[in-house]
Amino acid sequence: MPQITVGEYTIEVVRKNIKNLHLGVYPPAGRIRLAVPQQLDDETIRLHIVSKLGWIKKAIAQFEQAERLSKLEYITGESHYLEGKRYLLNVISDAGVNKIELRGNTYIDLYEKPGTDFGHRSIMMQEWYRVRLKVRVEPLLTKWQEIIGVQINDWAIKQMKTRWGTCNIGAKRIWINLELAKKPEECLEYIIVHELVHLLEKHHNDNFRALMDKHMPDWRVRKDRLNKSPLSHEEWEY
Ligand SMILES: [Zn+2]
Repeated sequence: MPQITVGEYTIEVVRKNIKNLHLGVYPPAGRIRLAVPQQLDDETIRLHIVSKLGWIKKAIAQFEQAERLSKLEYITGESHYLEGKRYLLNVISDAGVNKIELRGNTYIDLYEKPGTDFGHRSIMMQEWYRVRLKVRVEPLLTKWQEIIGVQINDWAIKQMKTRWGTCNIGAKRIWINLELAKKPEECLEYIIVHELVHLLEKHHNDNFRALMDKHMPDWRVRKDRLNKSPLSHEEWEY
């Protein structure tokens, strides 16, 4: 993915068959992405970015504020997401083992021994997410390796700031973002198919999109759902 650095910002530049430039700031970590028409030269792109620096700065500030507002405290009554659904956290002091359990469609019960330090709750939740995500990923990888006709050597769940997934083509290794534990099945499945298709096509080009269309005709809908509500975006005429 080509990148352009302007001042303190790194902007991903994606060339597409479009007429307008499209600038967006996206989750999970406020990544900045600029879609540009295929033939636009680098200097023009750079000038456009410079002219939008004020806007970028404001969008990033909004993003950081939203991050602060959504800072999790792991206290009873707080909303937490699992597999695309919202649950309420319920912290229970219990002399037995530390554990987390789902209760119906409403609660995530977190049992902890009295005196357990506060930061421990977030670690427990991350591990719980990791175990649940692993169980979802395994059958999807098996299924889609067979359908697409590729084989990976290794895969892992990682905490990543700017990518939902990565594919190391040489090592045939796929990493899945732990955050996907919170997302619906259709979104997780899209990322798995996307990363596996990279074993056939490195770049996000027409061939890549054709392979995606072939194996997962509704991938665009899934992708939009995953990245929906970019925090800010804007389009302008070129
Ligand atoms: Zn990709």
